[in-house]
Amino acid sequence: VTVLFHLGEMATATESLDDSTFEVLGSEIGYKVEIVSPEDEDKELLESFGLNLEQEELDEDDENLEIRPPVVTVMGHVDHGKTRVLDAIRKTNVIDGEAGGITQHIGAYQIWTEHEGNERAITFIDTPGHEAFTAMRARGADVTDIAILVVAADDGIMPQTVEALNHAQAAGVPVVVAVNKVDKPDANPAKVRSQLTEYGVVAEEYGGDVMFVDVSALRGDGIDNLLEAVLLTADAGLDLVANPNKEARGVAIEAKLDKGRGSVATVLVQGGTLRVGDPIVAGTAYGRVRAMIDENGDRVEEAAPSRPVQVQGLNSVPRAGDLFLVTEDDRMARQIAEKREAVERNAQLAKARKRMSLEDFTKA
Ligand code: GDP
Ligand code: MG
Repeated sequence: VTVLFHLGEMATATESLDDSTFEVLGSEIGYKVEIVSPEDEDKELLESFGLNLEQEELDEDDENLEIRPPVVTVMGHVDHGKTRVLDAIRKTNVIDGEAGGITQHIGAYQIWTEHEGNERAITFIDTPGHEAFTAMRARGADVTDIAILVVAADDGIMPQTVEALNHAQAAGVPVVVAVNKVDKPDANPAKVRSQLTEYGVVAEEYGGDVMFVDVSALRGDGIDNLLEAVLLTADAGLDLVANPNKEARGVAIEAKLDKGRGSVATVLVQGGTLRVGDPIVAGTAYGRVRAMIDENGDRVEEAAPSRPVQVQGLNSVPRAGDLFLVTEDDRMARQIAEKREAVERNAQLAKARKRMSLEDFTKA
């Protein structure tokens, strides 16, 4: 407090200060202050349990890596047809013999489609818009491999088209452009192509490397071509592999409290294989996987990389974007969750204290 006073900063001993003030204060009294981000703090927390996820990934043996399906997010301007496109995809290309198709909204779904003579899976995040995308990235969760940018052919490029594109580009995620509503009499798909060149998105037929597909989500036209384009984009340079032979980890896509079933969380497995009975921690939620269901409402016993499943058995509701991981035992899951909760509580206390001291200050 004294040093700060001499620096011209009025502060009390219980007050929160900003990063740069801490750095100046530190150097004044002969310390180098290191600012630790919440992500780093969590990394250290996990390391104290012997978990170093990044290192593990680096140490991954090539022999263990297997091809995994691409994870796709649909983005674009409001009313350009994101929801319709997701619906149209959901209706087509469901695994053979799966009568009725995808019935449950669990926040993500996987479809199968034939591609160059093989059955290939694609995972879709079922919440359109870039809000979900950015919220997840803000938590450090990079779930998307490919973004489908939906642009209505009768409307062309709009502000949120550009915004979505910026988000995808910032994340280094390739886009496939779905030129939608081509059934409309005033549709002008060529204009969409030429407009997007101004943003560095150049169609293959114009000599660029981005695939554009004309679709009518309303009629279901062009959806197969769109899926084809997604797989071609995935195969052209995206190295989509994961090790299914380890304890699972991934991201919570969405979660809620269900009257009968308690906490239900849709998670996307990114590495390893998730199994019923696994002890699991997701953010500050923990528990044991009691049951898993897929997008058809069917029970599943295990989920491999890129597979979304709805998990029951957590003691509370994780947030979208929270990372989940399977731990050695129940105790470790609980301890990690409790330590994280303590970290969050402290952060909130610090905030409240800062608010209070500000109020004191203005009162005085
Ligand atoms: P979102 O806001 O991007 O999710 O857009 P929606 O999927 O809700 O679609 C907005 C409106 O456009 C709805 O009235 C849809 O029925 C309509 N729409 C979506 N796709 C098509 C299409 O391919 N053709 C036509 N004619 N209308 C469409
Ligand atoms: Mg919508």
